[in-house]
Amino acid sequence: MRQLRTVVVGGGLAGLSAALELVDGGASVTLVEARPTLGGAVQTLPERDGDPAPAPDNGQHVALGACSEYLAFIEQIGSGNSLARIKLKLPVVDRDRRVSTIGPGPFGLLGYRHLSWRERLRVARVAQRVGRLDPNEHDDVSFAELLRDLGQRPAEIDRFWDVFIRPALNLPSSEASASLAIFTVKTALLGPKSASDLLLPLAPLSEMHGDAAATLLRARGATIMMRANVESVLDGGVELADGGSLEADAVVVATPAAECAALLGESAPNLGDSPIVSVHLWFDRPIMEPSLAALLDSPAHWVFDRGRLTGHEPEKGQYLTVVSSGVPELMDVRGKDIVALIAGELTGRFGEAELLWSRVSREPRATFAGSPGSAASRAEARTSRAKVFRAGTWTQTGWPATMEGAVRSGKKAARLALELEGENGPGRAVSA
Ligand SMILES: Cc1cc2nc3c(=O)[nH]c(=O)nc-3n(C[C@H](O)[C@H](O)[C@H](O)COP(=O)(O)OP(=O)(O)OC[C@H]3O[C@@H](n4cnc5c(N)ncnc54)[C@H](O)[C@@H]3O)c2cc1C
Repeated sequence: MRQLRTVVVGGGLAGLSAALELVDGGASVTLVEARPTLGGAVQTLPERDGDPAPAPDNGQHVALGACSEYLAFIEQIGSGNSLARIKLKLPVVDRDRRVSTIGPGPFGLLGYRHLSWRERLRVARVAQRVGRLDPNEHDDVSFAELLRDLGQRPAEIDRFWDVFIRPALNLPSSEASASLAIFTVKTALLGPKSASDLLLPLAPLSEMHGDAAATLLRARGATIMMRANVESVLDGGVELADGGSLEADAVVVATPAAECAALLGESAPNLGDSPIVSVHLWFDRPIMEPSLAALLDSPAHWVFDRGRLTGHEPEKGQYLTVVSSGVPELMDVRGKDIVALIAGELTGRFGEAELLWSRVSREPRATFAGSPGSAASRAEARTSRAKVFRAGTWTQTGWPATMEGAVRSGKKAARLALELEGENGPGRAVSA
């Protein structure tokens, strides 16, 4: 039987994992990526003079112990040693510089002094109740509405729930679908103990994702085309923007939602985007004691000691990365002003220091917005065409917009494509 010829459109984690699954399944693969690099949303910033090592990424990426498919993908591409696993132990710093730590599991909240005893008990009780809910039944309300219905008060939402939900869903609880939040609580906070472990990259994101996957794919015979834009997807292949075309028995479209709809000639799904702003700061002296921390009542949500966490502390000072999730209000603020704002938040909480260097990364379309009602707009892997499949973190994975969701979607689409071999034999014409 002739080998199944496949084209994968998009070289983000969804496309890369689809391509790996396809070569593993015996298919020939051509992966087409519009940009000059692979990895999609998981990128290292283009190098600039004066950057400290390791080079800054487009944003700190964190995976959880529960992200089994992402972890398997990382192992498969040989980057397992580039992830550090640490137990969830999150120092949370308030405006008055008071620090209190949240740990893993049901007792992790007991010592959390940013809430009173009574508030902690209420949070623990509500967490148990959230754990008994079915995510699929609650996509019509925001998580904050659901929490209020369960008796949670605004301070408990701000000082506990939003510390996790905001970075996990890239939206505050007031804007995030209760469905995705329930899923996250059940999977990460109330799952097995290791589910809430934090997995942090030790190497630049591009090196350990896109570059590593490309090396493996090429070694297994896949062809990778970069700076190549797919203009349309046909039943027997794809057309490229430069006028070329590629024939295929099956196509996996692994692009964001709007691009996917355009390529398939469909109307765009009703999914918004949610931005992330990352500010990299190198101070002339160490100011933050823990390796990572969350700030309450601040636009600087989580702070990472990038030098220490990657084992590359600068000779002098401290190299920090600050992530602000779901912050459309910061998108139009000038770079200089964002740096002043975020650096001021840090020195205000941790102590005075001078900046030696800074860099800002804005990602306006960092993730799809998992708002109430978004579940209905997440498309299935199967399309109306028998030989064309969708992948991408925005498709129906059950997961929020995460690396885990992207990897799962890619594998699923690839498995469906591989089934064609058995059903029709590759290469047989199938109409739309
Ligand atoms: C700053 C930032 C921080 C994040 N933090 C986390 C985190 O901590 N944890 C986590 O799990 N997730 C995080 N995410 C989200 C996660 O990175 C994404 O959900 C995931 O990587 C998306 O993968 P994807 O393959 O579905 O899409 P993408 O990565 O968007 O890949 C799609 C690819 O398709 C290409 N493409 C589009 N159109 C075409 C075309 N016509 N022809 C050819 N190629 C095309 C694009 O160039 C792109 O490379 C973060 C995202 C950002 C931006």
